[in-house]
Amino acid sequence: MKKTIYDYDFENKRVLLRVDFNVPLKDGKITSDVRMTAELPTIEYLLARRAKLVVCSHLGRPDGKRDEKYSLKPVFEHLKELLPRTKIYFCDEVVGETATKMSNELKGGEILLLENLRFEAGEEQCDDKMVEGLAELADIFVFDAFGTSHRKHASTYGVAKKLPSAMGLLVQKEVETFEEILREPKKPFVAILGGAKINDKIQVIENLLQKVDVILIGGGMCFTFLKAIKGNVGNSIVDDEQIDFCYNVIKEAINRKVKIILPVDFVCAKSIDDESSAEIYKLDKIPDDCMGLDIGPKTIKLFKKYIKRAKTIVWNGPMGVYEKEMFANGTKSVAELITKNKRVLSVVGGGDVVSAVEKFGLKDGFSHISTGGGASLKLLEGKNLPAIDVLSE
Ligand code: AMP
Repeated sequence: MKKTIYDYDFENKRVLLRVDFNVPLKDGKITSDVRMTAELPTIEYLLARRAKLVVCSHLGRPDGKRDEKYSLKPVFEHLKELLPRTKIYFCDEVVGETATKMSNELKGGEILLLENLRFEAGEEQCDDKMVEGLAELADIFVFDAFGTSHRKHASTYGVAKKLPSAMGLLVQKEVETFEEILREPKKPFVAILGGAKINDKIQVIENLLQKVDVILIGGGMCFTFLKAIKGNVGNSIVDDEQIDFCYNVIKEAINRKVKIILPVDFVCAKSIDDESSAEIYKLDKIPDDCMGLDIGPKTIKLFKKYIKRAKTIVWNGPMGVYEKEMFANGTKSVAELITKNKRVLSVVGGGDVVSAVEKFGLKDGFSHISTGGGASLKLLEGKNLPAIDVLSE
């Protein structure tokens, strides 16, 4: 078992807290502070225990160079608003003499926010000097940036090897939820897969085949599966290189008695941008100049049967081009059906479905919305996450 923040006495200890404050910015202003408010329970827990808190995060991709556009100063200003009673300092550098001095001068219950970790080239290279510099800032390391846990960076993997460490509350919830669904899922266990690309989900499909009872497939990827069983898919997107893979998945599913449910009708149009030509067609009836851009009403009814009975659901990838209103109904309906099933443990992972669910205002109806797209995919692939593996047992 990995250590959590409940396993340490933090009083007057310097604690390096790695968070994900990679917030969206427009003209230097934060447009959504969801990532910051999500972190408050861990921060408040540590402050209440009189930790001297050194907080660090990346923001955007400054590629190892200082670039004011990606400075954490707007985050600093907003953090002061979120925690008006806490003394918060900002350090213009990430590691070095000033950062070490400021961390040593902190008092219990105070925060020092470091500048963007990715201003240092050593961060993404997990360079020894950078790791040493970070380790000098603290006595204990708390990791709470789930979205970075599949990467071996200085502030994730590197520093965790040097200091006693623990999962923060966000990472703990992610790890416990994925463990529950992948180790001992309540059955029926239904996976819902969509999105455009198959090749970055191959291992997810292979791993889920061994765990689930049903896989509902929508989105652009369903057409490669349909093509594999000789369906006529009109001009819909097909990944020719993955047709054999899809065929083998279907064969393997039959051997394992896993049901793969493919769409039976579609909202189609001449192109993604031609919403005015949208019409519903049954499978095999899609005209040659039309592409399927969302699942149709009969498919939603078919999927409903499985979603209603499920006790565990994991969902990755939208059912259609949800960004356009004309092709959003499939994704929205699936989201609504899941939120209506009150007995299900429902887990959403992957950026697109998370933003779709947020857009439809249905976020609260899910048991768990994963904050890490790439990291949650790795867990669904059955792989370990290096930045979590390395934490103290
Ligand atoms: P992915 O990154 O593979 O999860 O794909 C997400 C993207 O798939 C979204 O931007 C959707 O607009 C797109 N998408 C979903 N369904 C379709 C479809 N039937 N045809 C083309 N693109 C799709």
